[in-house]
Amino acid sequence: MIKYKLICKDCNLTFDSWFASSKEYEKLKKKKFLNCYTCNSLNIEKTLMSPNVLRSKINVEDQKYKEIKKKLHQYQKFIESNFEYVGENFTHEARSIHYKDKKTSRRIYGLATKKDLKELEEEGILTERVPWIKNSIN
Ligand SMILES: [Zn+2]
Repeated sequence: MIKYKLICKDCNLTFDSWFASSKEYEKLKKKKFLNCYTCNSLNIEKTLMSPNVLRSKINVEDQKYKEIKKKLHQYQKFIESNFEYVGENFTHEARSIHYKDKKTSRRIYGLATKKDLKELEEEGILTERVPWIKNSIN
């Protein structure tokens, strides 16, 4: 349903009217089913103050939200296919790479507690927390 603010060009009366769609509005107007309550004029137009502006703004943000979510998903896919998942061994693996296999090109990702990450940081092992959409690790 769409609410339009209509104006009568003859007597300047404005009134709200509901339509199933913008197409329905055009159809009714063409068939001359839209007339003014007071002067019965068929000279009815939509006013520029359409209450649908707000709705379309929400839609734009939904679209952005979807795009960002999609990007996050691509980011996750990239990590999943280019990094080795080590699960809860992350802290251990990160240390062994840092201390033993410095020349390794191993790239890992996994789970760690905040405390673990802080300890790693103090040892000079830098990690990055990535935003993760649930259900993608199984
Ligand atoms: Zn009128």
